[in-house]
Amino acid sequence: MGTFRAIRIDKAEKGTTAALTQFDEAELMEGDVTVRVEYSALNYKDGLAVTGKAPVVRRFPMIAGIDFAGTVEQSSHPAWKAGDKVICTGWGMGETHLGAYAEKARVKGDWLVSLPGTMSARDAMAIGTAGLTAMLSVLTLEKYGLTPKDGPVVVTGAAGGVGSVATAVLSKLGYHVIASTGRMTEADYLKGLGAAEVIDRAELSGPAKPLAKERWAGGVDSVGSTTLANVLSMTKYRGAIAACGLAAGMDLPSSVAPFILRGVCLLGIDSVMCPIELRKTAWNRLASDLVPGKLTEITHEIGLDEVISAGSKILAGQVRGRIVVKIL
Ligand code: NDP
Repeated sequence: MGTFRAIRIDKAEKGTTAALTQFDEAELMEGDVTVRVEYSALNYKDGLAVTGKAPVVRRFPMIAGIDFAGTVEQSSHPAWKAGDKVICTGWGMGETHLGAYAEKARVKGDWLVSLPGTMSARDAMAIGTAGLTAMLSVLTLEKYGLTPKDGPVVVTGAAGGVGSVATAVLSKLGYHVIASTGRMTEADYLKGLGAAEVIDRAELSGPAKPLAKERWAGGVDSVGSTTLANVLSMTKYRGAIAACGLAAGMDLPSSVAPFILRGVCLLGIDSVMCPIELRKTAWNRLASDLVPGKLTEITHEIGLDEVISAGSKILAGQVRGRIVVKIL
């Protein structure tokens, strides 16, 4: 048993501390698969964990990081053997189970998904939890029955991780995507991802009317709060919105008007405890519905030593697209 590099979170007198340090392998938690982690990513929740801005970490010491891709080193789980390429996202990693910003992770084999053949570990983390969440949103809208013929779709927080992948996937599927952003300087970036229109998020940030002019048939909202309330009030008759985030807040200052007068549906998206079969479907769809070149456009790579400072940037809404973290 040796040690490995990891971003460790400890409880302090006031809040928590985060540091890149050596972690003892003997301290790894229970699990039937040990993975050599190659790439992780920086998600909004990781920003909260490494800065201590919100109490997402519920066990100490913790290794931060909610998602990884890597190679199985050891397994006593029947589905996995040494050398298998795997992805793991959510399931409490970085919150209640030791997480992904580490050279080694020990997890339950039941949590793992095979890396699709066409994807590298880096590609998988360029997608990461944010991209998985975007695809779960798309799958949920499709299950509801939404098609490109129904009309435009809106994506909020479009220049962020979830928003960038949602924009790219929905446009590839033939939707007219209206991308809402607070960074109009990113308009060319969003058009490059496939947005047909880019709107200023200020259009969606005032107090929402119960009903407003109908603008879209569906959407993916990663912002919550007043933005989601406005999005709902502008959704067409029998449209549907997938709600997956809270970048602007957890509240929803809305009314029942869109639901009972326009038959609008609000569809909840959770990636953390999402059933494994749905994850497999989502990763296979990400392999087919995301043009590989688009991933390069949205991705920026950092090392483990840069994660803590990047965590503050993601909370400040200063990160464009996705940040992958090279571990090995
Ligand atoms: P990012 O920080 O990459 O993206 C969030 C985007 O939201 C920002 O880039 C910005 O986009 C917009 N934004 C930020 N602050 C505000 C604000 N105050 N008002 C309006 N818009 C704002 O984060 P992720 O894409 O990784 O995550 C997005 C959200 O989704 C987070 O709340 C996260 O917790 C949640 N999430 C939920 C998951 C689930 O399982 N349900 C899984 C993954 C993420 P722009 O500059 O374009 O306006």
